[in-house]
Amino acid sequence: MLLVVMCPKCGGKQKTNPRRVSGSVKKCVFCGHSFVIHSLEKDRILAVL
Ligand SMILES: [Zn+2]
Repeated sequence: MLLVVMCPKCGGKQKTNPRRVSGSVKKCVFCGHSFVIHSLEKDRILAVL
């Protein structure tokens, strides 16, 4: 499953393929900020591909 997520710090959009969505940590490719992807936070997950 491929997700399009938005960095909460810089707003950069990027694709990620987490092993599990809930609690998965993504490091932003633009600013290096690490954030947790929550399946229930729809504002952070822009698309499921
Ligand atoms: Zn960022």
